[in-house]
Amino acid sequence: MGNRIHVTVWNEFLHEKKHEAVRQVYPNGIHAVIAEALSANPDMTVRTATLEQPEHGLTDQILAETDVLLWWAHMGHGQVADAVVDRVHKRVLDGMGLICLHSAHFSKIFKRLMGTGCDLKWREAAEKERLWVVDPAHPIADGLPEYFELPHTEMYGEHFDIPQPDQLVFISWFAGGEVFRSGCCWHRSKGKIFYFRPGHETFNIYYDQTIRKVLTNAVRWAAPSGTAVVKRGHHPTPLEKL
Ligand code: ZN
Repeated sequence: MGNRIHVTVWNEFLHEKKHEAVRQVYPNGIHAVIAEALSANPDMTVRTATLEQPEHGLTDQILAETDVLLWWAHMGHGQVADAVVDRVHKRVLDGMGLICLHSAHFSKIFKRLMGTGCDLKWREAAEKERLWVVDPAHPIADGLPEYFELPHTEMYGEHFDIPQPDQLVFISWFAGGEVFRSGCCWHRSKGKIFYFRPGHETFNIYYDQTIRKVLTNAVRWAAPSGTAVVKRGHHPTPLEKL
């Protein structure tokens, strides 16, 4: 696979086909816009996959060829086959990076990896969101200002029912007063997971240059980092003489 990062952008691709307001923002689907943004990076090879494809486009072979999987979903969480969730889960533990976007907080794969309810507070009022970088040395914050803003967003507020993040990169403040842990990192076995909050389907969030910078940084952070072979289980031969 060389030094390039092989990225798969997965989208349930339902809102865009059902709702004209969403189709106007993402005529070819959210996945197409995210893939186009990431493809501008010379170190990334990007493909897409959607719910309607056989095995949701996430066959063993495609997952084996994927270094980082991005996941956008909202209304179709229950339609994702458990066998595919099992497969993705196994690949994450084996080192594939996973980036869960916005309403993917309620996806089967995110809930399985977190082990908590993953519920949160929400409101659709097209209000301003200000994202503060709270871990300026983190690779996902590379090249970002101390804060950035989105003029119109859906609000997600605390409490967000997740395990404590291993690293917290962003905290959002909303015009209505709520706050939210909007950029969270976890490690699960060899896999790295990043949850990134912005991305409601009726707003042009994924065209925003700063959002694209975050996604680019997150893909590079989540890519497998070439750790030593992991060995577990019965180990009858000690390293030192006993
Ligand atoms: Zn939303």
